[in-house]
Amino acid sequence: MSILFCWENGDAELWRNEFSSRLPDYEFNVHPDVRSIYDVQYILTWMPPIGDLKRYPNLKAIFSIGAGCDHILRDPEVPRDIPIVRLIDDASVRDMSHFALHWALHFQRNFHIYAKQQRIRRWQRQPYHTVDEHCVGVLGLGGMGTPIARLFADLGFEVAGWSRTRRKVDKVTCLAGLGELPQLLGKTSIVVSVLPLTSDTDGLLNSERFALMKDGSFLINIGRGSVINDVDLIAALDSGKIAGAALDVFATEPLPAEHPFWGHSHVHITPHAAGPTNDTSAVVQIVSNIEKIERGEEPYPVWDWALGY
Ligand code: NDP
Repeated sequence: MSILFCWENGDAELWRNEFSSRLPDYEFNVHPDVRSIYDVQYILTWMPPIGDLKRYPNLKAIFSIGAGCDHILRDPEVPRDIPIVRLIDDASVRDMSHFALHWALHFQRNFHIYAKQQRIRRWQRQPYHTVDEHCVGVLGLGGMGTPIARLFADLGFEVAGWSRTRRKVDKVTCLAGLGELPQLLGKTSIVVSVLPLTSDTDGLLNSERFALMKDGSFLINIGRGSVINDVDLIAALDSGKIAGAALDVFATEPLPAEHPFWGHSHVHITPHAAGPTNDTSAVVQIVSNIEKIERGEEPYPVWDWALGY
């Protein structure tokens, strides 16, 4: 029996060493070198070649090397009867939280203005609102969004969170469903989106939603790029409705060189770097899920075909 590693940007030797010591009974194959398609029981992958995943008759689970599965699901022939296990490793949760916090503090303490002032050698202290005068809105209260909301609350921000079904998070006002989204947008000055991309969230943050936000709000997007309507965001930035945006994810990645975000003075771009997979902590989670499956238990968290996330 074997585990197939299919991640061309990953460090295959590091993963081979970890798996050989933790699951020594499994042979570790690195795609495309597969000794026998019949032996492959588990696949670890980020963006498998289209049509590849259906080739393994004895596959027990597909492990995404990331929290999202969009890269796997671009293959229309992904077997639907095999669980696709998402990756929520502690290190990326921590890194996503720190990333969101960095940008929130950046905007809250006017670092975006000081960076511009430095370029023109201007020494001028800017007034700012203290953390307890800001309400942070976290869109998505899942494996990533909940710890982010908690972190902000622990630091003294007022926090409102939003999800599809109602959640309960200590010190966080939890709102749910489209009907309650205006309530969140109307009270928050910093919005952090950690939403997955689904048919319901595609283009969700558009001119209609931006109009509901406070004047001079800030937007941080670390979920998925297509949740934002780019044209509408540029208009909101130009009008000052949104005073600054920190964008880590985009509808097309890498962000095309001609995209207007690159040159916009109120946009801060990072290359999908908010919560990179941490190999060591990812291996621990995947091995634990393989052990669960071997014991006849359900792995966690599993992609839900009905919900689309
Ligand atoms: P989860 O599936 O654990 O949580 C998703 C959250 O979004 C849930 O709270 C869910 O609601 C909510 N949600 C989904 N659809 C809707 C909707 N239509 N309306 C309102 N709320 C909705 O995902 P994770 O927290 O693990 O990850 C979120 C996303 O973060 C990933 O899909 C990925 O795209 C992105 N990500 C980005 C990274 C980066 O480096 N930038 C790294 C890792 C992840 P409910 O609670 O009711 O189910």
